[in-house]
Amino acid sequence: QVRVRFAPSPTGPLHIGGVRTALFNYLFAKKNKGIFFLRIEDTDQNRFVPGAEAYILEALEWLGISPDETIGINEKFGPYRQSERKPLYREYADQLIDTGWAYYAFDSAEVLDAARKEQEEQGNTFIYNHTNRELLDTSLVISAEETAKRIANGDAYVIRFKTPVGETLHLQDIIRGDVKFETSLLDDKVLFKSDGMPTYHLANIVDDHLMETSHVIRGEEWLPSMPLHVLLYRAFGWDAPEFAHLPLILKPIGNGKLSKRDGDKLGFPVFPLEWKTEEAISSGYREKGFFPEAVLNFLALLGWNDGTDKEIYTLEELVEAFDLNRVHKAGAKFDPEKNKWFNHQYLIKQKDDDLAKAFAPIVAEKGISTSENQLTKIVSLIKERANFTSEFWDLSDFFFVAPIAYDEKASKNWKAETPALMQELISVLEEITDFTSTNIETIVKDWLVINEIGMGKVMQPFRLSLVGALKGPHLFDIVELIGKKETITRIEKAII
Ligand code: GLU
Repeated sequence: QVRVRFAPSPTGPLHIGGVRTALFNYLFAKKNKGIFFLRIEDTDQNRFVPGAEAYILEALEWLGISPDETIGINEKFGPYRQSERKPLYREYADQLIDTGWAYYAFDSAEVLDAARKEQEEQGNTFIYNHTNRELLDTSLVISAEETAKRIANGDAYVIRFKTPVGETLHLQDIIRGDVKFETSLLDDKVLFKSDGMPTYHLANIVDDHLMETSHVIRGEEWLPSMPLHVLLYRAFGWDAPEFAHLPLILKPIGNGKLSKRDGDKLGFPVFPLEWKTEEAISSGYREKGFFPEAVLNFLALLGWNDGTDKEIYTLEELVEAFDLNRVHKAGAKFDPEKNKWFNHQYLIKQKDDDLAKAFAPIVAEKGISTSENQLTKIVSLIKERANFTSEFWDLSDFFFVAPIAYDEKASKNWKAETPALMQELISVLEEITDFTSTNIETIVKDWLVINEIGMGKVMQPFRLSLVGALKGPHLFDIVELIGKKETITRIEKAII
């Protein structure tokens, strides 16, 4: 059975990269009728941010990609919070000590410094591995009795992995194919810390094994950890899951990796997290008015496509089309404009009365009372121009309030003859009983034709009177919606 996981560390709000990792895991699980689970990797107590765990769950829920198993939900292999699995990791670290795959390291800062200096004097960069093992203060160089004595004595130590020397690992990555690593270049990573906690590496491997993870799908930044992880599976005698490392997400301009800092400017967290650092973020996708479906659709295409030009997918369609083998190796550029374009596509697909419901509080806040019916009509006229419902007001304010100023440039269209023409227009409008857009349009245009009045001479000042500028939807739709009385009042006001 396919079992995949999203394994974030609760160090802050969920950003675009994390969400994409979660999404690709979700899609892969659903595509293969498998399980998508969420594990909280909170063994690094220094980086722990209160509230971040609840945030992650809420963010996935908002996006519509909640896990099948996690804290409090189908806890088949629980606990799903690593801090609650603490005693377990120690047993596995001890097992590696017993089998000779790991060792105790007691190094004091002085011992480490001396070893570092010695290497640097020879022109080498110091790596904590086989090249230095003789110089260091570890159970590899001292006797078993001495080791036992020191531990009994309460000396601080860590447990390190004893990386095999002189092996070329040919590892398979679903996205990258064959990836080669020289074990001699790896360092002997710490597996267990002096504070009694496992490191990410140990906890991650133990849990992926115990939770029966079939595929590890994660960001490219974890690719350098892959050899250690594969060696750990070997050391334990376990089958390793398959690996797929997702491409980096790059800045819109240049070739750099997108950082959280860039993200904050563009509103990348799903929504803000109230936390105590200076990095406090006031806005996220949710606040900006993104539809969760639009965010998912956009993220799905950051590093993947189905080989066609198709861009708009429902979540079900994504599940259907998704294929890990079609994920690219090359970094995917984040394009904020495209991101908004996706939102626009979802906005215009919404029902007008749903959009009106979203718009209603904004209008009410301006102290304007209007009917839902009226709002629905207005929204249908302006949505083509909006990426977000928050833009509705600026696109439609003239429906609710008469212009207080007229666009200066457009006012050039207001000529000496204009007031008289506008006066005549008022008389024409007054006569109309069926005050609907097409009917008003027919009558006004007939009047222009019969009297041989140039279209532009009336239409532009007419629009200027109603809107204050030469913008907005079809003029006669505006006329119908604001109604006869208000239309005439606005023209009269413009004449003076
Ligand atoms: N806890 C790691 C993170 O924060 C998980 C990496 C992995 O998926 O192995 O991204």
